[in-house]
Amino acid sequence: MNREASRAGFSRRRLLQGAGVAGLGLAGYGAYAAAACPPSEAKGRVVVVGGGAAGLDIAARLRCALPRAEITVIDPARVHYYQPGFTMVACGEFTPEETQRPEETLIPGGVRWLADRVEAIDAAANRLTTRANGVVPYDYLVLTPGLEMHFAAIEGISRERLGEGNVHCIYDVKSAQACWTAIQKLSESGGRAYFTDTWTKLKCGGAPKKINMMAEDYCRRQGTRDRVDFQFYTAGKELFEVPLFRKRLDAIYAERNLAVTPHHRIQSVDTRARRVTFEIHEPGQGKAGAGGSGAGPAPAPRRVTREFDFLHIVPPMTPPGFVLESALMEDPETGKAAQWVPTDAATLRHARFGNVFVAGDVAGIPTSKTAAAVRMQAPVVAENLIAAMEGRKLTAAYDGYTACPFTTEYGKVLMAEFDYAKTPKPSIPFVDPGHEHRPGWILKRYMLKPAYFDLMLRGRM
Ligand SMILES: Cc1cc2nc3c(=O)[nH]c(=O)nc-3n(C[C@H](O)[C@H](O)[C@H](O)COP(=O)(O)OP(=O)(O)OC[C@H]3O[C@@H](n4cnc5c(N)ncnc54)[C@H](O)[C@@H]3O)c2cc1C
Repeated sequence: MNREASRAGFSRRRLLQGAGVAGLGLAGYGAYAAAACPPSEAKGRVVVVGGGAAGLDIAARLRCALPRAEITVIDPARVHYYQPGFTMVACGEFTPEETQRPEETLIPGGVRWLADRVEAIDAAANRLTTRANGVVPYDYLVLTPGLEMHFAAIEGISRERLGEGNVHCIYDVKSAQACWTAIQKLSESGGRAYFTDTWTKLKCGGAPKKINMMAEDYCRRQGTRDRVDFQFYTAGKELFEVPLFRKRLDAIYAERNLAVTPHHRIQSVDTRARRVTFEIHEPGQGKAGAGGSGAGPAPAPRRVTREFDFLHIVPPMTPPGFVLESALMEDPETGKAAQWVPTDAATLRHARFGNVFVAGDVAGIPTSKTAAAVRMQAPVVAENLIAAMEGRKLTAAYDGYTACPFTTEYGKVLMAEFDYAKTPKPSIPFVDPGHEHRPGWILKRYMLKPAYFDLMLRGRM
């Protein structure tokens, strides 16, 4: 229990109870085992690939509902990270240690854990291959291996080289910690601070903006704001896709003199010279014949180079290699490889293989990749998988709910919650969802991490 929370008179138990009351998709935790997932007599070998946020939540739910099934989680990671906490590490609110727990303490009792790496999946033959344990057959597969980050796709960068030239990335916990040190130094020395994002879909698309706003707020609180030139270069066309939250973010960026430059993809970084180069991808540009008359080869995108004193980068992201190489990527509608795993948006069943269910970052569904989304996907996967095992119709449906708590400043969060239709789905009562507020900060700072480890990963939320 941290000092500020104890001063406010909260105990961990009360905080978690508060989470249930406040909503944020947390209401009704504990009800699942009793109501939504009655015990089933179904048998079979269920293999869960990836014991991260989605895999553990789903495995816990299946374990409680399927006493006669054999459930295996495969994941080589010995340490489990609460990744939403990385942003808080990078602004000095959490230590890296607070974001991690040993994986073995989180594997649900009665679930077999293979601490091994899946190297290939043969979905037509219902089997996969692991690095150390060879072939593992399955009757049902839950695919939750998250995504892969490609730091080296930015020329001059690799994961190991983060930190060189004052280049940081909060998607890596070590770098998030270094980023916090760098932000404190930046506020003392001043300089040109560039924050960027990436051109692929990414987990928590809000995170690069969160750390941008928190760094600016930190400098303001230190009285050094005028020493730093803050720039946000985005590959996208705007700051956020949902109008209600975009309107407020645009206003915050304007009010706080945070410059935004759209359509700029980071291309390379010279860490020695502290120069970053972007490709400009404007709409319509890059098509054959664009900018000239008639057809012809597409012109190369224009490039611009900027000098920086501090740089925050985000690598492009894809499904993990072993998934990309499998038949699971084939979109049955087009017959071609999709960018993310083709998945039915409502039932979360694989679009082609009926005994495969998909959740979390790897899923090809039109919503943001967040743990909050996983929290709503897990009960749907569990319920529909059991229905499939029993030969029943799949009736559970996911509506695309996701949440992005924008830490706009120390003490306030703009809680962006919405669904597939981009309709806001606010769950905190008595506050304006289109504005940042203190209750959102209390949730993000004090409640969501314990709720994640102690409730969500145990399938109880
Ligand atoms: C900086 C940052 C900020 C974020 N902020 C938020 C936020 O504020 N709110 C929010 O809701 N979400 C946030 N997220 C996103 C959230 O953490 C992810 O969306 C969530 O963890 C996805 O769950 P997952 O199970 O799909 O993937 P993960 O939790 O990443 O788990 C994937 C698991 O698969 C395993 N795996 C990978 N490859 C293999 C293999 N070959 N064989 C076996 N296992 C394998 C990995 O070891 C890992 O344990 C943030 C993420 C980051 C990085």
